[in-house]
Amino acid sequence: MVEFASQRERMVADQIAARGVCDKRVLKAMRTVRREAFVPAAVRELAYGDTPLPIGAGQTISQPYVVAYMIEALAIRPGDKVLEVGAGSGYAAAVLAELAKEVFAIERITELADQAEARLYAEGYNNVHILNADGTRGWEAHAPFDAILVSAGAPIVPESLKEQLAAGGRMVIPVGSNKRAQELVRITRGVSGTFEREDLADVRFVPLIGEQGWEVGETDSEVTSPRLIRTTPAVSQTLPSLILRNSQSFEVPEEAAVTSLVRRIGDARVVLVGEASHGTSEFHRIRAAITRRLIADKGFTIVAIEADWPDAAQIDHYVRHQDLPASDWSAFARFPTWMWRNVEVRDFVDWLHEYNRPFAVARRTGFYGLDLYSLYNSARAVIGYLEDVDPDLAEIARWRYGCLSPWETDPAAYGHAALTGAYRDCEQDVAMMLRDLYRKRQEYAHADGERFLDAAQNALLVANAERYYRIMYYGSRASWNLRDSHMFETLNRVLDAHGPDSKAVVWAHNSHIGDASATEMSARGEHNIGQLCRRAFGEQSCCIGFGTDRGTVAAASSWDGPMEIKEVRPSHAQSYERLFHLTGRAGLILPLRHNQNLEVVGELAQPRLERAIGVIYRPETELESHYFEAILPRQFDEYIWVDESSALTPLTTAELHGVPDTYPFGL
Ligand code: SAM
Repeated sequence: MVEFASQRERMVADQIAARGVCDKRVLKAMRTVRREAFVPAAVRELAYGDTPLPIGAGQTISQPYVVAYMIEALAIRPGDKVLEVGAGSGYAAAVLAELAKEVFAIERITELADQAEARLYAEGYNNVHILNADGTRGWEAHAPFDAILVSAGAPIVPESLKEQLAAGGRMVIPVGSNKRAQELVRITRGVSGTFEREDLADVRFVPLIGEQGWEVGETDSEVTSPRLIRTTPAVSQTLPSLILRNSQSFEVPEEAAVTSLVRRIGDARVVLVGEASHGTSEFHRIRAAITRRLIADKGFTIVAIEADWPDAAQIDHYVRHQDLPASDWSAFARFPTWMWRNVEVRDFVDWLHEYNRPFAVARRTGFYGLDLYSLYNSARAVIGYLEDVDPDLAEIARWRYGCLSPWETDPAAYGHAALTGAYRDCEQDVAMMLRDLYRKRQEYAHADGERFLDAAQNALLVANAERYYRIMYYGSRASWNLRDSHMFETLNRVLDAHGPDSKAVVWAHNSHIGDASATEMSARGEHNIGQLCRRAFGEQSCCIGFGTDRGTVAAASSWDGPMEIKEVRPSHAQSYERLFHLTGRAGLILPLRHNQNLEVVGELAQPRLERAIGVIYRPETELESHYFEAILPRQFDEYIWVDESSALTPLTTAELHGVPDTYPFGL
């Protein structure tokens, strides 16, 4: 008895007050409720540990700190009427009962509801009422409530619960579209019926199952324990040292051990080099260093990047000293401009321009775009080409592509209009254009193979982009797969154009180049260019991923928003990034495919969180927006770590004025 009482005191001091919960009433309530009375006999000895515990039926009693933290956030007053959804063991309801006038608690599992009721009665609480029902609908008969505590993770805030909040009432609820992890939010109802939302913390709760929650069965197998992820104990102590022993360290990116990396790449034909964010200087610089070595030492003649074909074609003209019409020198002018229009990429492009100089045109290394967002520029490029080589077909092309022209400012609206039948779709027109161009392949290519490749690629892009905008409305999986398949197809065409022994380096985000079958993308039915390359080229493909712990990144807050330099939050306690951070090194290269030490690879093969920052970075909802689950050693063949990284340097318009006419990034 005495033993539990002193454990309770210590729990409040060490786990709760020490972490910043300071409401005296909450601390007193936590000191009063006998937690040991709410857990099964088998785990009673652990009742005051800093963890959640099983309570039967696959459910858990929350970590004590989580209970105190959530209840403090509810700011409960002595006269309040409180609703709890997810009563579980009844423990949190007992703490609430110490603070409020009346507590109404709902539990969907009958066995647990019965137990909770019995325990609360035995502990002398007569101001708690238990209901065995679906709590997502609330408890209408007793509404409105001054405070609502939701003890399970919801996909969205249930409308019924919002409606049952009194004016000025507070609800604390874990919410997120990710079933594994949620954002803990506080919703406050204003006197005029408006709702204010505040994000409090990253958490991990069992799912809220019900009419306005997750569907039964959809999530039952994913039961995890409610706890504040931020306070999760650190990862295994031995794994970081195992990583360290098996990696090569570097202090600054320029000193990264690319020589041995290039040796391990061996005779791979396709090397895909990633990035954990689009806006990080170090990823660009190390990637450029690897690529220079592959070009200079291993005969790679293709650099293919996650950018649109016509933009990259302008860079290609510059680096290969081609005497070709250089349309309008406006490469990478579309959002997100900084992704490729930056000092780091410009330095590489300048190097390639010089490197190529002594070689015959056919032997020069080219620069290509794999992406498909340039529907209109590509259509214009096809027409421009045909005007030179076949004015009659140019006229037909103008007419056929004209089908898409009403939607130039918003191609997504075209997809919608075509799908709903409000506008005829242009599929036939763009497909016929591609077919006609290929029919005349011999004739055109004979005159100038390079220009034919450019035009044919633009025509392919128009055909795939037209489809992309139409299927976008069927969901993200179909459009994602189409986009990555287009990248793969484009890469193959470029490899073919460079001959049977050609070799390519691909630059794209980790999420495109890391094998999707080793990440949660596969559960969504998504594939990517990395996976397609592995399947097609086997050992002759090599995939290099990047990661970072913290620093700054160039990114926007929303689509089409301005570029900002944002602080990158230190990595998540349960992520791969945290493991690498714990090595204490500024930079590391860890071989994953050619690692002799199976232990490190085996240990890393347990699924963990991995961070991906794209064009947009939302640190405030980082867990939900930027982390996904992956198995690192299956995803990449090599992993490059930069502990603290910095934002890339964008090229501004002002800097571009006065650059030579042939300068690739000119306006
Ligand atoms: N507050 C509880 C305690 O201290 O023991 C812990 C709650 S446990 C983390 C989450 C509980 O929510 C589980 O017992 C689960 O059965 C319950 N639950 C999930 N969906 C529910 C719903 N729609 N209505 C009521 N209870 C639900």
